[in-house]
Amino acid sequence: MNPVRPRVVQVLVIEDDPAIRQLLRTTLEAEGHAVHEAATARDGRTLAGNRRIDVYLVDLGLPDGDGVALIRELRGWTQRPILVLSARTQEAQKVEALDAGADDFVTKPFGVAELHARLRVALRHASQTTLEGEAALTVGPATVDLSAKTVQRDGEQVHLTATQWRLLEVLCRHAGRVVTARQLLREVWGPGHADQAHYLRIYIRQLRQKLEADPAHPVHLVTETGVGYRLVIDNDSIG
Ligand code: CA
Repeated sequence: MNPVRPRVVQVLVIEDDPAIRQLLRTTLEAEGHAVHEAATARDGRTLAGNRRIDVYLVDLGLPDGDGVALIRELRGWTQRPILVLSARTQEAQKVEALDAGADDFVTKPFGVAELHARLRVALRHASQTTLEGEAALTVGPATVDLSAKTVQRDGEQVHLTATQWRLLEVLCRHAGRVVTARQLLREVWGPGHADQAHYLRIYIRQLRQKLEADPAHPVHLVTETGVGYRLVIDNDSIG
């Protein structure tokens, strides 16, 4: 379909479970990606320093250290996307990892389709340096224009308060990716409000009323239980 072959994506998998590494290698190679494997934080660090990596997949429970610390370290020198591989028992660590700079997470056991969707979104965002002046996003029945700071629904202008707009703007900047409650509170209300999750629930509910076709069953402003929220857009209209 597309005659121009994109450059092969270099993925570094840092995961101590050999079965999961094997599964990731198989599925990522089937997509045409190149896979580098590390079973320890130490080997991961070495490979990260020696190779030109496009995206990192990091397990949170590594035999020689904490995945969160490794993510914080990687984030100190790379802007490339970092996806967390977490088990259901690692909810708190998952949030910590996201707050430390990870872009998104995949919960084990994960589906292959979900993994690829998360990777695509992360790589797409990594290739964009700015959203300024970009096209509008389609969110269900609504269209959000980030440069004009307007929302239209069924041809009508939707009025948003300043706070509602700031919240929507942050979610749009991270469209397709999870944003932690802490991050949203910090970016929208300021650093002193990081623990006031009830603000967030109120404003998310208000935004759902304005943007969702069925606010009681949201499909765009989605809750990621125990973590935060994710804005699911209809198309890849960003960029
Ligand atoms: Ca592990």
